[in-house]
Amino acid sequence: MTAGLPTPPLVAEIDLGAFAENIRAIRTCLASGCQIMAVVKADAYGHGAGPLATVASKHGVAWFGVARCQEGVALRQYGIDAPILVLGPTWPGEAETLIEYRLTPTIGSCGDAATFQRAACRRGLLYPIHVKIDTGMGRFGVTPECVPALLEQLGTCSHLHLEGLMTHLACADTPDVESVQCQLARFRAVLQQFATQGLTPRYIHAANSAGLYRYPESHWTLVRSGIALYGAHPFPAPEAAALRPVLTWKTYLARVQTVPAGCGISYGYTFVTGRPSVIGTLPVGYADGLNRNLSNVGQVLIHGQRVPLVGQICMDMCMVDLTDLACAHVGDEVVLLGAQGDDRITAEEIAARCGCIPYEVFCAISQRVLRRYVGTDNDVCH
Ligand SMILES: *Cc1c(COP(=O)(O)O)cnc(C)c1O
Repeated sequence: MTAGLPTPPLVAEIDLGAFAENIRAIRTCLASGCQIMAVVKADAYGHGAGPLATVASKHGVAWFGVARCQEGVALRQYGIDAPILVLGPTWPGEAETLIEYRLTPTIGSCGDAATFQRAACRRGLLYPIHVKIDTGMGRFGVTPECVPALLEQLGTCSHLHLEGLMTHLACADTPDVESVQCQLARFRAVLQQFATQGLTPRYIHAANSAGLYRYPESHWTLVRSGIALYGAHPFPAPEAAALRPVLTWKTYLARVQTVPAGCGISYGYTFVTGRPSVIGTLPVGYADGLNRNLSNVGQVLIHGQRVPLVGQICMDMCMVDLTDLACAHVGDEVVLLGAQGDDRITAEEIAARCGCIPYEVFCAISQRVLRRYVGTDNDVCH
């Protein structure tokens, strides 16, 4: 049934030109006067960390952020030379690996500081660290109450160099302005405590993409941007419209079948045709990252028109109702996410339809889906 289909019939196209433009837009419009850390954890939110970090480096992005040690190692092995901050905690036994690959740790406790002091001492290094303050995320970092103890501890860490001081905002993408201001005030107080001890690190950072947009006072010397770089919005924001979506997820019609009224489609017959219908089969399923909650709710683009996903999405395939299309043939391009003709399906729209967030839509696109890099970042001036 797949004669006439491109191989592979399921790809995520990553537009490097759009990515480079987003970097430029963020630098010139939003974050002038500070450096950018491109957050490329989870394989750059499914976009491919190595290729995107390569483009970002070329366009003046100073830092990269990953969640885990192994992600940092993979970036080094890909050839990325810029500083890489591991945003998450260091797991037992990982300190040596971080140092071996010149990855900068986020220190979230006195114990973390002691671990890296020992590891750096063994190698005779003065090793850079960023200290994270938990000003109200409740997740990771030194709480303000523990700052005096941490300062005392750092005083004994002769092999550590405090290069960064950071916090993370819990509600920058929500209407809760007050809680953000409270977090920033706590952070300022901690910065003051450090300064009193003569500790004024080169990098001070708090903003994620939402902070980047909405709280200029959270920018300090470095902003950590993830979702905005990929052209999606952390909250409904018309002023954010200048960013270009980077990823287009597309597949092709693998089968087109005319069926009578009363015909059950897919597992459980959650969809039954109400009229003589044309049903198309797509070679994409939830194992590729198509959220199963889009069953009977989602839409895709064919010939620039929206058509509904019908029946339960299966692991490897799903069905669409083509009855209202003038014509549809095996091999026709189907856009799951992105633009076709004059219409566009955004990650935000998909997220709203299936009750998740745009981040999940991107991260879900599995390794089974080929990433193809298109567009050129050369003509983007900076
Ligand atoms: C993921 C992450 C970011 C990036 O968040 P976006 O909303 O994608 O910009 C920034 N900082 C930390 C600590 C993170 O974990």
